[in-house]
Amino acid sequence: METLPLIPRPAAGALDYRALQAQWAARYGAYRDEQNVWRLPDGRTLAESIFGKPRPAYKILTWGCQMNERDSEILAGQLEEMGMVPAGLLDEADLILLNTCAVRETAEEKVFGTIGYLKVLKQQNPDLILGLCGCMAQEESTIRRIQRYYPHVDLVFGTHNVHQLPQLIERVRREEGMVVDVWQAAEGVVEHLPSRRAGGVKAWVNIIYGCDKYCTFCIVPTTRGRERSRRPEDVIAEVEYLAAEGYKEVTLLGQNVNSYGKDLGTGFDFADLLARLDRVPGIRWIRYTTSHPRDFTDKLIRTIAESDKVTEHFHLPVQSGSNAVLRWMNRRYTREYYLRLIEKIREAVPDACITTDIIVGFPKETEEDFRQTLDLVRQVEYDNAFTFIYSPREGTPAARWPQLPREVKQERLERLMEVQYAINLRKNQRLVGQTAVVLIDGPSKKNPRVLSARTRTNKLVLVPGEAAWSGRFARVEITRAQTFTLEGRMLELLPDDAPEIGRHGQFAPYVPAARSA
Ligand code: SAM
Repeated sequence: METLPLIPRPAAGALDYRALQAQWAARYGAYRDEQNVWRLPDGRTLAESIFGKPRPAYKILTWGCQMNERDSEILAGQLEEMGMVPAGLLDEADLILLNTCAVRETAEEKVFGTIGYLKVLKQQNPDLILGLCGCMAQEESTIRRIQRYYPHVDLVFGTHNVHQLPQLIERVRREEGMVVDVWQAAEGVVEHLPSRRAGGVKAWVNIIYGCDKYCTFCIVPTTRGRERSRRPEDVIAEVEYLAAEGYKEVTLLGQNVNSYGKDLGTGFDFADLLARLDRVPGIRWIRYTTSHPRDFTDKLIRTIAESDKVTEHFHLPVQSGSNAVLRWMNRRYTREYYLRLIEKIREAVPDACITTDIIVGFPKETEEDFRQTLDLVRQVEYDNAFTFIYSPREGTPAARWPQLPREVKQERLERLMEVQYAINLRKNQRLVGQTAVVLIDGPSKKNPRVLSARTRTNKLVLVPGEAAWSGRFARVEITRAQTFTLEGRMLELLPDDAPEIGRHGQFAPYVPAARSA
């Protein structure tokens, strides 16, 4: 079998994936066919030359946040450019990648469980390549554990060299033993990465990588590195490309999107980016995740209030309602600052839907601290909250502090969920009888005759309807409210350029049309 060269480690700055690939191609006389698949001079695809069979299949299992989902799209894009195809079932795959999350211990244990289970497949098919990537791969403890207890894993690579997947797979075939290639830090932002996006209607777009906030509970700065913004022209070009491809909604991604641009030093910030993307024809809704309360400027609020496309869903992780806990967490804001921020958002965007993340059982959190969290939750009246038990992460400051007993953490989580779920339901019930514009995702998981759709404010609405309406905007009437979902009935499908799609305050009382005699 031929061996293929490794792409050299890039120098700092923005890098062009296509140029890196062309470097490889020139050396081997490889060319891209009309489907964009790399072929060697003898006509075989790159994947065929590595796996020794035509159209080898891949499966990617993804845990964690949207950033990981997006990385999986990029991994899949690279594999398809090599000539691989998606596998239906796990046991049909020639390559299985586990794209992992390190934010909480529970997620990590699920991954180890899956690796153990996959040993059976590896025994049945010794040619199977099993790889582990994502945030867990950036942790030394994971690498040690894999090397020691899971020698059937062939490849471990991290979040900073995702763009080297073809070369890493080739190394697995060429080298003896497990290939471990994890970079300590990113060496620049890589542009023009291939990707395989599902659906054709909603797309994720990375705008900033990494996080510089160093919350004392959080592993992200270790696993994702320092903040690196993409250049505005690269983001704008990607969104324009997506619009031309027929996408209607984009979600801008980053661990901390509203830090966007700080590292570029040009003064062009997240609000400027939103204002610019608001002008891209064809894109109707723009979402973003996650934003940090500290960086949520008045300019950003104003920009969102004035925009048609940036939706009025604000996900603002508060983490705790106690100033003492916020200080230990290094969140860099106080309860009073946060409450004032919510007030300003509601003044500027009256129909704002506000959601949050909350951690309970942080080291040193007293019953009084926790009550302040409950009090803040009642005061803000979140539309929804993602609630977590604090999970110590090796290498983070809070993991070294005395921990609260498991039962205390569990009991606080349950009390918090009870309070928040009642608010969820109450707020959803207020929407019954109103109409809303939704973007239809497609048939729901439980019932193919019921469609799953989202409002601008990201509320999930289940509407009886036809699969053919997937990807269409529609006006629905909300007929029933539950804690996490709304039910509705279809009033009308909307053309993609209907003005109400771009209107804030899309919930309006339902007024039946007068019946003609
Ligand atoms: N970068 C975002 C921020 O700082 O707000 C959030 C990203 S994090 C992946 C998503 C959520 O997981 C956090 O907002 C936090 O509530 C939760 N989380 C992070 N580290 C955690 C830990 N060690 N234990 C429990 N929950 C944690």
